[in-house]
Amino acid sequence: MRRLDRETVDRIAAGEVVTRPARVVVELVENALDAGADRIEIEVVGDGTDRIRVVDDGEGMSAEEAALAVERHTTSKLPDGNLSTVDTLGFRGEALASIADVANVTLTTNDGGARGTQVQVTEDGEATVDSAGRGRGTTVEVTDLFHNRPARKESLAAPATEFERISDRVATYALLRPGVAIALDHDGRRVFATPGSGAFVDAALSVYGREVARESTTLDAEASVEVGDRTAPVSVRGLLAYPSVTRAGTEHTRIAVNGRPVSVPVLRRAVERGYGSLLPGDRHPVTTLLVSLPPWVVDQNVHPTKETVALRAADTVADAVETAVSDALATADLRRSADVAM
Ligand code: ADP
Ligand code: MG
Repeated sequence: MRRLDRETVDRIAAGEVVTRPARVVVELVENALDAGADRIEIEVVGDGTDRIRVVDDGEGMSAEEAALAVERHTTSKLPDGNLSTVDTLGFRGEALASIADVANVTLTTNDGGARGTQVQVTEDGEATVDSAGRGRGTTVEVTDLFHNRPARKESLAAPATEFERISDRVATYALLRPGVAIALDHDGRRVFATPGSGAFVDAALSVYGREVARESTTLDAEASVEVGDRTAPVSVRGLLAYPSVTRAGTEHTRIAVNGRPVSVPVLRRAVERGYGSLLPGDRHPVTTLLVSLPPWVVDQNVHPTKETVALRAADTVADAVETAVSDALATADLRRSADVAM
């Protein structure tokens, strides 16, 4: 764990990160994924301002690391401060500190030692460090979110809407990272839990239920595209629900670029073009797609919340995605007609 130098900090597009409870959940889940967790449990009370707890079985932190983790601009994730080689979801080292600014944070962690560590950040920003019993992994509990930001709390939507955002974001990670078992509980009730089998269809079954799982096909395609004077390999993997299963909103067209769930309209439209005329009118597809590109094609650092990326030769990459989607749907369609014929 190290403190980023001034220069690196300035190069990272920073910004007010914690705008609503779903943002807290995203940051904590990303940290758990970065820690290599196989299992992540997310518990939310109400709209998330009361309590959010994320429990992981990842690599954990030592006592020293845990105390540093809640400070601003401390990260274990930027080797040499080199932004172009980041392959983790985090890298700014400010999420935990930003959350601690607007909530009470308790972090309990163990990196495999006999005893674990508990760090508590109190309302005045002081951190207390104790030892604590816990197996390997990390639990972060965030309570009383926005207690010192009444205007922000006031501006939140109805609790059901805020929880929907949380549930949508957790579903995104659960669907795009099927190798990790991800469970979401709300007010003590289980919303969904993926098995962590690695199969996209298993995650879709847990999140969406039988219809989407049955009415879908997997996709695994490779292509090369010309970017400037270089050739870039593009791979597209994941799950496509058949056009018989659609949604009114675009939020179910889930796409990750190099492992990071992002909103890249040019790619989402490419996926829709891949469905072509199969897609009824103003309906949108249910997809879980991982697009992988060489790092030099992607600029991760364009948005403070890292929710979007800029692509070089975006139209060419989009064409490759469109072709991958339409080919997979055509193949699945042939297979299904053959099944029916038999
Ligand atoms: P970033 O993720 O950008 O590094 P954060 O503020 O989210 O910044 O976290 C700071 C540091 O705390 C991380 O770099 C990591 O070393 C450590 N950390 C946070 N959450 C966890 C976790 N769940 N498991 C292990 N280490 C963690
Ligand atoms: Mg982080």
